[in-house]
Amino acid sequence: MSDQQFDVIFIGAGPAGYVGAIRAAQLGLKVACIDFFAGPDGKQALGGTCLNVGCIPSKALLDSSRQFHNLTHSFDVHGISADNPRIDVPTFIGRKDKIVKQFTGGVATLFKANKITPFFGRGKLLKGNVVEVAAADGSKQTISATNVVLASGSVPIELPFAKFDGKAIVDNAGALDFTEVPKRLGVIGAGVIGLELGSVWKRLGSEVTIIEALPDFLGAADADIAKVAQREFKKQGLDIKLGAKLGKAEVKKDGVHLVYTDKDGEQKLVVDKLLVAVGRRAYTAGLLADDTGVKLDERGRIVVDEHNHTGVDGVWAIGDAVRGPMLAHKGSEEGVAVAEWIAGKAGHVDFDTIPWVIYTEPEIAWAGKTEKELKDAGIPYKVGSFPFAAIGRAVAMNEAVGQVKMLAHADTDRILGVHMVGPGVSELIAECVVAMEFKGSSEDLARIVHAHPTLSEAVHEAALSVDKRAIHKGN
Ligand code: FAD
Ligand code: NAD
Repeated sequence: MSDQQFDVIFIGAGPAGYVGAIRAAQLGLKVACIDFFAGPDGKQALGGTCLNVGCIPSKALLDSSRQFHNLTHSFDVHGISADNPRIDVPTFIGRKDKIVKQFTGGVATLFKANKITPFFGRGKLLKGNVVEVAAADGSKQTISATNVVLASGSVPIELPFAKFDGKAIVDNAGALDFTEVPKRLGVIGAGVIGLELGSVWKRLGSEVTIIEALPDFLGAADADIAKVAQREFKKQGLDIKLGAKLGKAEVKKDGVHLVYTDKDGEQKLVVDKLLVAVGRRAYTAGLLADDTGVKLDERGRIVVDEHNHTGVDGVWAIGDAVRGPMLAHKGSEEGVAVAEWIAGKAGHVDFDTIPWVIYTEPEIAWAGKTEKELKDAGIPYKVGSFPFAAIGRAVAMNEAVGQVKMLAHADTDRILGVHMVGPGVSELIAECVVAMEFKGSSEDLARIVHAHPTLSEAVHEAALSVDKRAIHKGN
């Protein structure tokens, strides 16, 4: 017999679980949400990876480090100078911690306002939609519900020959908490985390070397966009070694000794800190009793159908723990959709228009298909592009780097993909997602009035350029 009965229990309070829990409560359901994540004070910290050690803290450090970098590298063109600029790392990290606390506390307040019952402990699904909650002190209780939503998220992948020790060899959480600027920072993996956190510490003065196994830079992005980004990162001094395979990482007194091989053979490198960012894997440790019937795929992800249902009556799964991109907004939308399906409403997630953003300098953003994907699929397309160098606002900001590239169907003109690198593209992509969601054409965007002078004129001109009628460049 379980202690308490709910309509829905969410296991995991990351952006997938906590957002789903709030939507379920809005729909009148009696909701519980379980999470074991504790903050530095030992108290429950809701919000998962995203709020505690992911999206929010990384963006806080990216913003502070960007300000410092501008002060030390680009304010002079504006006629602004400062004597002896310095970064105080404890203040830099402390600001990030404050923001994290504000947001994790914000989720607790939202739970209260929506009458969601939080449980602080580890949830384990038992047969029959009963969930065992084990607190850190070893005490256990069981709760049950008509529906259980698994939202247990993901954890960093560990390399067997470069195990995390939390001091010299760290994961994302460690790299968000260095107490001083490492003189030499090694990063394994030139993916999203490697580029974002590598940029943070490079801007503060670290010598950053990124070792990437694949021969191509940022393979998930459109090749033209990746090329511009790679060139800009090189200019900034990020040393990105492609086609390089790490063989050994040994912690010694004078640093972490790395041995890797690239096209020229075996190479050696000594760094003070090593960030391993080679991807994340679904986290399901201790989540499922043996007889629940919930299945995992070959990559350890919880198997779900297109409605995030596991195939076991009343059991659903969302977010990083299931297939699809590991993005906070993807998980949140799945949480909302599942809550709506449970409440008998029409939930909906369009996987074809999920935007990707990399918050480097310049920023990178895209939605939809890349040019290579269209080519491989044999879909006929037209291309339009426009450089930020010809956008007045970007020049006025001294950030006239990059371009917007738009891909539209050759016959119907429907927008199939938009790819950007440049200033403010994390915000510009939203307009393109709206157009794509409404099955818009490049002509639709071309006919819409865009304010002058704004960065959004690059989207307008790229749309015009699909029809070879961009105004401020040759076609
Ligand atoms: P998580 O956020 O991982 O949350 C899962 C929660 O479940 C955790 O709190 C965990 O404690 C809890 N849990 C697990 N098992 C149990 C259990 N058995 N019982 C109770 N609780 C359990 N995405 C973006 O979209 N934009 C970004 O800018 C971005 N930046 C990132 C930066 C970094 C450094 C990292 C690491 C990730 C970033 N991400 C970003 C990815 C984003 O954080 C994840 O996609 C998102 O957090 C996934 O949400 P989730 O709710 O599925 O899982
Ligand atoms: P990633 O998949 O983005 O990048 C990992 C990189 O490591 C890849 O380029 C891969 O080829 C490389 N790699 C793998 N094994 C290697 C090895 N042995 N040696 C050298 N390189 C190796 O993964 P990540 O950067 O760890 O981030 C994990 C996920 O978190 C991302 O995929 C993304 O979904 C999410 N995230 C999103 C954002 C954002 O939206 N801005 C930011 C950070 C993280």
